[in-house]
Amino acid sequence: MTTTTAPQLHPDAKAFLDKKSHKLLIGGQWVDALSGKTFKTTNPASGELLGTVAEADRADVDAAVAAARAAFEGPWSKVTPSERGKLLNRLADLVESHAEELAQLETLDNGKVIGEALKGDLPLSADLLRYFAGWTTKIAGETTPVSVPYYPGARFMHYTVREPLGVVGAIIPWNFPLLMAVERLAPALACGNTVVLKPAEQTPLSALRLGELIGEAGLPPGAVNIVPGFGPTAGAALAAHMGVDKISFTGSTEVGREVVKASAGNLKKVSLELGGKSPNIVFEDADLDAAAKGMFMGIFYNQGQTCSAGSRVFVHESKFEAMVAALAERAKKVRQGPGLDPASRMGPLVSEEQMKRVLSYVEAGKKEGAKLLAGGERAGGPLAGGWFVQPTVFSDVKDSMRIAQEEIFGPVVAVMPFKDEAEVLARANGTPYGLVAGVWTKDIKKAFRMAQGLKAGVVWLNCYQFVDAAAPWGGTKQSGYGREKGPYAIEAYTQVKSVWVDLN
Ligand code: ADP
Repeated sequence: MTTTTAPQLHPDAKAFLDKKSHKLLIGGQWVDALSGKTFKTTNPASGELLGTVAEADRADVDAAVAAARAAFEGPWSKVTPSERGKLLNRLADLVESHAEELAQLETLDNGKVIGEALKGDLPLSADLLRYFAGWTTKIAGETTPVSVPYYPGARFMHYTVREPLGVVGAIIPWNFPLLMAVERLAPALACGNTVVLKPAEQTPLSALRLGELIGEAGLPPGAVNIVPGFGPTAGAALAAHMGVDKISFTGSTEVGREVVKASAGNLKKVSLELGGKSPNIVFEDADLDAAAKGMFMGIFYNQGQTCSAGSRVFVHESKFEAMVAALAERAKKVRQGPGLDPASRMGPLVSEEQMKRVLSYVEAGKKEGAKLLAGGERAGGPLAGGWFVQPTVFSDVKDSMRIAQEEIFGPVVAVMPFKDEAEVLARANGTPYGLVAGVWTKDIKKAFRMAQGLKAGVVWLNCYQFVDAAAPWGGTKQSGYGREKGPYAIEAYTQVKSVWVDLN
């Protein structure tokens, strides 16, 4: 069983864990919670305690928002765009040079396998910082020819400026803890905002280590404040705070609704990246080997704990039996184990609560008459001490079943046959969600027709689970609104001021 003293642990990861207790980052200082309260964070592969963390509540959030405001009005506002870029690039260098250590902390706290953390989360985090570092010097307004028809002889100059919003509150989930933190910090800081970050209570460690690196990179105190704590206390206080100008939230649709309600007090801006129940559609003319890999990765990457999980797989009826049998066979062979073991291909779920939730969906699927082809149980034997759920494949699923409608956020896939394009398009669009969708076909016209018809924020044609700093990310319908990443993030973290000059 993995322990924090495992020989393969990087000395810096070990040193961080050896502190055993971690504080809040407010105004450049590491401080205890005002209440003195702490909470525990554990390794989901074993239940082992990784450390205790100061538990922020309303008063700490108040202090963090005040520190962020002071930095926004003070030192951060004096940093030139080019210097902001340098600072973000310096942080990117630090994330890169500490990649192994950060990946290990992520694996220990979240459960994900180390290879995925090292090849996915870490390079993407560094790349996001560099991408937005590049934007700092390019956030420009425009001059606009205005006519003013009601004002004969009008002669004006009109221009726009893109200004930061102020204090951004970032509330993030536990599935990609570091990546989600950076995805908010990078554009928010690039645009000149300051940030109060609330990591998920299940996975605070990598964000706290990032906070140390932010200090090392030389960002002024208060530019980034980190307040781990629980959703209904610290999260709700941040969402409702009158001193916060924008909330960027990623999490469940249910909590997203709470965040919108909480934002009403000062009408803060909100962007929401919420749940999904995404279709991954395999036509009979697809490259079936590639599609099989895409089906597998689409659902089982990160133990299925991705908002973009391809949790509804539609396969053309002519290929259905073969494809579903191959998926089930592959699922049965997955080597599960602690994420730090390089031989593990799938780690535990993040928490006991999440494991129970996922297993309850497996029960619901069975009860509603779906056929279990693989998995469906908590993994036993040497893994019994952790929150491992076997990769699970259901067939004989009806569109109306809960496992085909509700987000499970775990390694459970519903595979369903279809007859034709119009039918599968309607069924693919037939949930309240609209985050992503995948289509596998060699027919280019069909691929584009599907891309046009799918109600989703992201469509992958002959690929699945690809993200990039430059590609906008976000959903439609009840998967949220607003876009993170890419140039649209600049819009999301700035506001436009319109300036008129009378030239007469
Ligand atoms: P999940 O179900 O995947 O844990 P949640 O939506 O519950 O997702 O949590 C995502 C983030 O939202 C976490 O940081 C959590 O602490 C926070 N959160 C939970 N409830 C609230 C709330 N009422 N107000 C603000 N943030 C919340």
